[in-house]
Amino acid sequence: MSRIETTAAAVRSAEISHSMILIIGGGAAGMMAAIAARRSAKASGNSCSITLLERNPRPGTKIRISGGGKCNVTHTGTSAELLEQGFLRRNEARFLRQALYSFSNSDLLALLRSRGVESEERPDGKVFPVSEDASTVARAFEELLKESRVQAHFSCRVRSVERKGELFMVTTADGVFTADRLILATGGVSYPGTGTTGDGLVIARSLGHSIKKPSAALAPLYTLNAPPASLSGLALRSISLVATSGGRSVERRGDLLFTHRGVSGPAALSLSRDIAELIGETGNCALFADLFPEQSSAELEAELLLQARRSGAQMVRKFLQGCPIAPLSGAFGMARQGTIPTALVPFLMRHAGLGNDVTWSGLAKEKRQSLLSTLKRFPLGSVRDVPLDQGEISAGGVSLGEVNPKTMCSRVVPNLFLCGELLDYAGEIGGYNLQAAFSTGWMAGVNAVKPVVTNSL
Ligand SMILES: Cc1cc2nc3c(=O)[nH]c(=O)nc-3n(C[C@H](O)[C@H](O)[C@H](O)COP(=O)(O)OP(=O)(O)OC[C@H]3O[C@@H](n4cnc5c(N)ncnc54)[C@H](O)[C@@H]3O)c2cc1C
Repeated sequence: MSRIETTAAAVRSAEISHSMILIIGGGAAGMMAAIAARRSAKASGNSCSITLLERNPRPGTKIRISGGGKCNVTHTGTSAELLEQGFLRRNEARFLRQALYSFSNSDLLALLRSRGVESEERPDGKVFPVSEDASTVARAFEELLKESRVQAHFSCRVRSVERKGELFMVTTADGVFTADRLILATGGVSYPGTGTTGDGLVIARSLGHSIKKPSAALAPLYTLNAPPASLSGLALRSISLVATSGGRSVERRGDLLFTHRGVSGPAALSLSRDIAELIGETGNCALFADLFPEQSSAELEAELLLQARRSGAQMVRKFLQGCPIAPLSGAFGMARQGTIPTALVPFLMRHAGLGNDVTWSGLAKEKRQSLLSTLKRFPLGSVRDVPLDQGEISAGGVSLGEVNPKTMCSRVVPNLFLCGELLDYAGEIGGYNLQAAFSTGWMAGVNAVKPVVTNSL
């Protein structure tokens, strides 16, 4: 492999190391790209040199903390189902289609199994290693990297990348690396302590790519007024979280958790990307919980009326304490998701303007209407912040239109490949983001080895 002629006086020739494929970032996408490149090269009898640069002392930092340390590595189902459930924005699902079909969840699980990591599926479709220990997944990838004869440099942060003729010149504190093909796999910008401070976005921009500004996703919601201490830690099962701003409204069904700073849990995390965007446009956003998302207001009113007729002497407070939360339509009496949490009831009563001991027979029509609107639209406060750094992922990144979804090759810079969270997609909770990082990494690695990569669709 030829060495680059460099005019940079600061760079001594002894410090320059050349490889055919150089990968920046040793997370899920980067490690998978290296492994895929080696397998693909081997299959075609190509003995190319592969280098991986990672700023952390070890690869796979985010894998190790994923899924609360248990690593929700992927989701069960067909690739079509993963795309449908895991990537709610159609353009992003469309972009990822080829990658998820080329390297599916079964391919990923088979690869892990080949390193002794068995996985199991939970009833909700999330897949975890049987060990429930994320480090078993990270270690499996470390071993696969070693097996793949990848020149890995750890504690090696890339400062800049320049295009010099046909080569990429990658500058680090340890010296300069040159490569024929470059794979950028530097992740997003959340949890910056794990190494993801957005360097890859700066590099991609410097090479000519347009970047969609990173924004929060799968992040908790902080409200202007923190929830009362008695609600902190309380979960509302299967409700609908509604966010409204400037006449627009978005909602998500799922569990909601009160925290000491606002709300979190699957419904809040899933809606956080939309909310961050709404706030970016209008500057504010109000949150509400619909405790009866399967009942229309008219249906719920009929149920409350029936209750009032049947049990006039019953205290409304007592009724609410035993009342199912989010029951199925037509099955009001069935506590499928448990009941309204007792700790929430005083707040519901107060918001509806009801006295503590009021009975159904003592409830005037307007008070019943007020209770109805409280149950359908219980205010949770205004969002103060959707913290970008606290998200499991970040949205935004390298524009998808500038990357060929069949190869992960840049349409802007020849022989540049981009993969993983660095790209402008964001998946739901459930293993979709790791799967997308592995699948796009796989595709980048396989295609980086090919002699000519076409950029046509
Ligand atoms: C707390 C938490 C829990 C999560 N849980 C799950 C889960 O259970 N399931 C799931 O599917 N997803 C989960 N995710 C999301 C998932 O981890 C990421 O989407 C995925 O790891 C992205 O992979 P990646 O390879 O694109 O980026 P990363 O894994 O972030 O890897 C990028 C790598 O690039 C390195 N790097 C960056 N800049 C440089 C530079 N200048 N020089 C050298 N190296 C550099 C970084 O150090 C990092 O190691 C979780 C995320 C977090 C933060």
